[in-house]
Amino acid sequence: MSATPTAWPELAGTRLEPCPGDALVVVDVQRDFLPGGALGVPEGDRVVAPLNRCSALFEQLHLPIVLTRDWHPADHCSFYAQGGPWPPHCVADSAGAGFAPGLVVADDAHIVSKATRSDADAYSGFQHTGLADWLRDRGCRRLFIGGLATDYCVLATVRDARNQGFDVVALRDAMRAVDVQPGDGERAQGAMVAAGAVLASVDEVAGASA
Ligand SMILES: [Zn+2]
Repeated sequence: MSATPTAWPELAGTRLEPCPGDALVVVDVQRDFLPGGALGVPEGDRVVAPLNRCSALFEQLHLPIVLTRDWHPADHCSFYAQGGPWPPHCVADSAGAGFAPGLVVADDAHIVSKATRSDADAYSGFQHTGLADWLRDRGCRRLFIGGLATDYCVLATVRDARNQGFDVVALRDAMRAVDVQPGDGERAQGAMVAAGAVLASVDEVAGASA
């Protein structure tokens, strides 16, 4: 995946309006990733409104909506106590693992729990979840992706989506970064484009429905 934006001239004419073959993928918009949460992402709560706007549009169009969630056992390998890089977060069935207050979860949304075993982490919603097959079974070819956090699980999900052959529209204003190092979020969005994703604002995607 060495393609640069200039290698994709046809994208200039890409229609961003959702249509059959599209799905929305909302990555890890969970309480523990909101400001004040166990692993709070700065401004993480700001993704809720734009993602709800996208959800409403996809629901109206009867297009698939997927919500991924970190769903860890209490002794997960990514936690400090096990030598991992993160404080405990998103323990399965805990309040912190719940979806963010105000996030609309459509009745028929497909919920993907990831990193559910102690011995493996999963930043991407595609890792050991069967998500690619689920999407292909429904005729999905293009994914609109946003959520938390830009520089970890959103980036990993975008990359795996591209590796699985899906077109990707990365919702630039419906994601927020951890920014362990300043600029990580911007670099992650650059990496998404380098992987062949199109960056677009929610206005560009859902503007007609505003
Ligand atoms: Zn995690």
